[in-house]
Amino acid sequence: MKHAGLWQLVIFGAVLRAVTPLAEEPSAPPPPPSPPAAAPEKATATAMKKVVKSDAEWRQLLTPEQYHVTRRKGTERAFTGAYWNHKEPGVYRCVCCGLELFASDHKYDSGCGWPSYWRPLKPEHIGTEPDYSFFMVRTEVHCARCGAHLGHVFDDGPQPTGLRYCINSAALKFEPRPPAAPPPAAQLPASPPAPPDPEATR
Ligand SMILES: [Zn+2]
Repeated sequence: MKHAGLWQLVIFGAVLRAVTPLAEEPSAPPPPPSPPAAAPEKATATAMKKVVKSDAEWRQLLTPEQYHVTRRKGTERAFTGAYWNHKEPGVYRCVCCGLELFASDHKYDSGCGWPSYWRPLKPEHIGTEPDYSFFMVRTEVHCARCGAHLGHVFDDGPQPTGLRYCINSAALKFEPRPPAAPPPAAQLPASPPAPPDPEATR
């Protein structure tokens, strides 16, 4: 019986030691209550899941010029790109990941030789950061989803924003706007049957 009592003590001690650190843990991470509040943030984060590829993958997917511009922060020569003088209605997507970046509605002729827009299609699709290269202070513009270098934004654009998004054609892929919706007449549903007019029968 004495032995049993001793064993009980030993086991009790072991259990205590094992439980003590566990008991402390729940008090350590009080953040758990916060996740519900952060949920909406999570939703937007998933909506804008980053596209990450290796350098080799980008090289395979892109033409040498697209790769040079978007993944190596290159710049195409002015007046040489596909879109500097492009005026069709539609949307300009990221050449790397397809994210919608700019729209023809916001494109204007800045005369600089690169496609110019006075605003992005959706501000959250564009990221910016200071660029100190070439002894200049500029603001670099990139795709928020895949990080593709697009060009720069300057503050000499037209109103209402006063901004000029000066973008390399090589970073963009134009998608024409789908043909205009059928004329309103064709869209009208069959006219509802006129209610019988009791006056007319008299
Ligand atoms: Zn992209």
